[in-house]
Amino acid sequence: MTQKHFTDERWSDYVRGLSPAPDAAAIHQHLEAGCEPCERSFRFWTIVAEVANSEAQNEVSEGQVRISRSAYLSWWRGRMLPQRATMARLLFDSMLAPLPAGVRGHGPSSRRILGRAGQWSLDLRFEPSPGKHLFLVGQILGPESAQSHKTGFPVLLMSPDALVAETTANQFGEFQLQLQRANGLRIYADVPGRRPIGMSLPDLQSPLPPEDTPVP
Ligand SMILES: [Zn+2]
Repeated sequence: MTQKHFTDERWSDYVRGLSPAPDAAAIHQHLEAGCEPCERSFRFWTIVAEVANSEAQNEVSEGQVRISRSAYLSWWRGRMLPQRATMARLLFDSMLAPLPAGVRGHGPSSRRILGRAGQWSLDLRFEPSPGKHLFLVGQILGPESAQSHKTGFPVLLMSPDALVAETTANQFGEFQLQLQRANGLRIYADVPGRRPIGMSLPDLQSPLPPEDTPVP
């Protein structure tokens, strides 16, 4: 049995807010269920609608398409990403518990955080960096089937109201970021064609554990 998706016509109406209410509800529910092909369709038709909208007003230029794409990106990141992400739960924080035997630490002054969301795992290591900064070395890994393992994907660090830092994970899901110590940060993996993965980071304002001083 093949799963029922939606026609282009219905998408086009949906992204422009023209769907009849039951139809909009059905599409919304289907997206919420995490259908990947429809997630892609949704993103695609949203861009199309924005470009079409600017075309309707005047001749569309390449610049406008670019602006429309960046408007789309900032809308997606600011509004949709936080709403649509599957949030990982915290499995481990070296600030709260010592590393289990067999798990390699990276020096006493680093902090390691592990999280999990379904088949996705997040491994984040925070190192001190000059000033009020931290250096984050991370890896976000999904199921073997994830397309991200061929292409890499954007990794975004967001405060409640702004994008704080952005980078691209490589094909192994590895990435590095520099950030300011802050509270209320969230990290997101915006994996193409999938529901984004997110995780709320614990308080990063408190200092990392001090370097061990050898007992004489
Ligand atoms: Zn679908």
